[in-house]
Amino acid sequence: MGVRTPLFSSQPHLLFWEAKNESQPATAAAECHSKEEIHAVKHATVSARATKRALNFNAGPGALPLPVLERIREELLDWRGSGMSVMEMSHRSPEFDSINAAAEQKLRNLLGISEDYAVIFVQGGGSMQFTMAPMNLCLPVKPIDVLHTGAWTAKAIGELKKGFLHHIAASTEPEKFARLPRPDEMKFSPDASYVHICTNNTIEGTQWTTLPETVNSPLVADMSSDIASRPVDVKKFGVIFAGAQKNLGPSGVTVVIIRKDLAERADKNLPTLLQYRTHIKEKSLYHTPPAFAVYIVGLVLEWIASEGGIRGMEKRNDAKASLLYGAIESSGGFYSCPVEKSSRSKMNVVFRVAGGAAGSATAQNMETIEKKFSAEAAAAGLVGTPGHRSVGGMRVSLYNAVEHAAVEALTSFMREF
Ligand code: PMP
Repeated sequence: MGVRTPLFSSQPHLLFWEAKNESQPATAAAECHSKEEIHAVKHATVSARATKRALNFNAGPGALPLPVLERIREELLDWRGSGMSVMEMSHRSPEFDSINAAAEQKLRNLLGISEDYAVIFVQGGGSMQFTMAPMNLCLPVKPIDVLHTGAWTAKAIGELKKGFLHHIAASTEPEKFARLPRPDEMKFSPDASYVHICTNNTIEGTQWTTLPETVNSPLVADMSSDIASRPVDVKKFGVIFAGAQKNLGPSGVTVVIIRKDLAERADKNLPTLLQYRTHIKEKSLYHTPPAFAVYIVGLVLEWIASEGGIRGMEKRNDAKASLLYGAIESSGGFYSCPVEKSSRSKMNVVFRVAGGAAGSATAQNMETIEKKFSAEAAAAGLVGTPGHRSVGGMRVSLYNAVEHAAVEALTSFMREF
C-alpha cells in the first residue's frame, strides 16, 4: 500500500497519483506539465501523470478535446463545489438543471437555433432516430422520401420497410455510393411527409455541400457525423439529429433539433418515450437522462466556442481535410480516394493503399498492404485508420477534436510508408 495522503489535499484531483507514484522524480512530472499545457485552453488542470495520448482517427466514438478531458478530471470528484460528481447527482437537482439548460443554450448559440425549434437530449443513438422520426412525422398516405447515399441511409430505410410508406428519391447505390446524387437525379414526391437525408456518410466518405431543393417537405437530417463541424442554416431543416460521439461528446446522448410544430404531428398514443413532444415538454428530463454525457456535451460546446465557434471548427476542418486529400492526390497513385471530388467528406476521408501501384495490385495484396499500413500506423501512435468492416480500405476521421498536428503526423507517416 502506498503512503496515505490526507483526505482533503489542496489538490484533491491528484490524490490517486500521490498515493501511487510519490517516488517519481519531480523533474519528470514537471516536464509532462509543460508538455500538456500547450494543449490547454482555459481552466484546465494540468496533470502530473505522464499521459501518452494516441493520435485518434476513430470514426466514433472519436477523439475528445484534451482541455475537455482535463476539465472532466478536474471536476470529477467535486463538480463546482457540489461535493459530488455529475455522475452522482440527482437529475432533479438545481445543479443538473443548470448543466442541462446550459448545454442546450450553448448549442442554440453556436448553431443559431431559433425559438421555434426545440433542442432535446435523448437516448438510443442515431439509430433510434431512424424509428422515432417516422413514428412521429409520417402523415397518412404521404410517403417519406429518402436520399439513399450509403450504409446509414440503408439502416434508416430498413426501419421504414417495417410499415411506413416510403419512396427512394435518389440512390447512388449502383455506383457503390462513391458520389452523392445530382440535382437532376432526385425525384421527390409532391406530398412527402418529409425527406430523409444523411448529411455526411461516415462509412463511404461523402458529404453534402449543397442541400437539395425539396419543394414543400421538411428535411430530416441525420447529422451524426458532421454536426457542429461547419455552419448550417437550421431553418432549412425540419429535424436535425446526431449521436454526440463524433463531434459533440461521448456516446450515450443524442441531440435532436426539431421544429416545434412538427413534433405535434405525432399520435398521442405512441409510446410516451418515443414521442418528441414528451422530451420537449419536459426539457429532456422526462426520465433519467444520460447526465454525464450531457455534461460533457456542454464542455465540448464551451471548447468549440473558445476555438472560434462553428466558423472556427470549419476553418480547422477545412485545413485538415485539404492536407490529407492533398497527400493522397500527390502520391502518384500510391494512395487513391474512390470518392468523386465534389462529394468528398471533410469528416471521414476514405482511401485505398497501393491500389494503382503499377496497375498490378491484386485485391488480395492490396488488403495485405492496407493491413500493414494500419498496423504500422498504430505502432506509430496513429490509431483508427482501418475502414469500416463493411467496405475495407482506410478511413481517417477528422472530427472537430482531431488536431491539425495529428493530420501532419499522419501525412508524414503516409509519405514514409
Ligand atoms: N448515422 C450516421 C451517419 C452514423 O455515422 C452513425 C454511427 N456511426 C449512426 C447513424 C448510428 O448512430 P448510433 O450508433 O449512435 O445509433
